[in-house]
Amino acid sequence: MNRAVFLIDMQSFFASVEQQRYQLSPGEPLVVSGDPSRPSGVILAACPIAKQAGVQNGERLREALLKCPSLTVVPPHMQDYIDYSLQITELLEDFTDRVEPYSIDEQFLDVSGSEYLFGSPETIALQIQEKIMEKLGLYSRIGIGENKVLAKMACDTFAKKNSRGIFTLHKNSLSQELWPLPIEKLFRAGKKMSRNLRLRGVQTIGDFAAMEAEQVRSIWGIHGQVLWMNAHGIDYSPVALNTLGGRKAIGNGMTLPGEYAEEEDIRTVALELCEEVCRRARKSFVTGNTVSLGVSGTEGGFHRQRTREEATNITMEVFQTVTELLELHWDGTPVSRLHVSLSSLSPDNGLQLSLFEPPEVRTGRHQLGFTMDKLNEKYGRTSVMRASSLLKKAQAKERAAKIGGHYK
Ligand SMILES: [Mg+2]
Repeated sequence: MNRAVFLIDMQSFFASVEQQRYQLSPGEPLVVSGDPSRPSGVILAACPIAKQAGVQNGERLREALLKCPSLTVVPPHMQDYIDYSLQITELLEDFTDRVEPYSIDEQFLDVSGSEYLFGSPETIALQIQEKIMEKLGLYSRIGIGENKVLAKMACDTFAKKNSRGIFTLHKNSLSQELWPLPIEKLFRAGKKMSRNLRLRGVQTIGDFAAMEAEQVRSIWGIHGQVLWMNAHGIDYSPVALNTLGGRKAIGNGMTLPGEYAEEEDIRTVALELCEEVCRRARKSFVTGNTVSLGVSGTEGGFHRQRTREEATNITMEVFQTVTELLELHWDGTPVSRLHVSLSSLSPDNGLQLSLFEPPEVRTGRHQLGFTMDKLNEKYGRTSVMRASSLLKKAQAKERAAKIGGHYK
């Protein structure tokens, strides 16, 4: 498997949190309903025991009580669910920083590269399950695949139904595992699209996968094409870094070989730092709204930030904000250290769009950054550089040499 992506889903999340709040045993049936005193209220969540008795989400409380008279009915406590959700994210971040909350009770995780620390993907999944149970008392199910679509389908279609609550959907076994399933089981197919597909004789995911790509595109356009790729287990969307609360930042600092007093020299180095910060942001598929600049020397310094209207990971845009900060706050005293960071991070939607649109649709500068990164990765850090990095006071070339081509 190229990558190891997990989709972690909490079983009966709201109901399980409530069972703890009211200290009920898992054997006592419980439902969450907007107003427990109103029989016409709707069931928002039901615990597994209530579900076994036939209670369904969305039905009236009155009907649920007929099926299961011993029901405990409680109102929702949204803040509790959010708190639990954040705690789950924190637990998951012990395994990798690549955690993406997908819904309140589902999170994507990319553990590629964590194998050395924690073992095989299935071993990691087991550890995660145990940890969430131990710390929060919640039972989780985990789907594993080499991308988000496979992980999601592994969870919904298989892990939720087997006894371990863990399932790996391998790309090379799709024809046996996934393709016999009804088309409705295809992730993101939706009711309308599924009906549409069935009208054209597509009953199973395999029927859809067997269609010609061009035909799919001509009938259903880009949406159909993406779904068709999903049926083949193809999905390029990255697991974005967790950005809840915007507490993460990407920053890079540099201690200069001497004190710089010329604005031009400081700008040269600042641009190199912006390039590094943005390269790391692009690598993590995130963009940021807030740009910070820290400048210090023997005679003083400052640390200021400015929030841009649009999130970015385009080097020249971050540099523009850094230049503004420099012009506003630098008093002209010599500088020996600079620091640039990007925060208020969010997923790079421009990049996600690349799944649906040809690259030329993306803005040139956005694309340029990725192209430069690719060239540098392939041919070495100094293969493509800004001309300003050839100036005398520039640092990027030297730094690249010093750290063996790896920026850290
Ligand atoms: Mg769930």
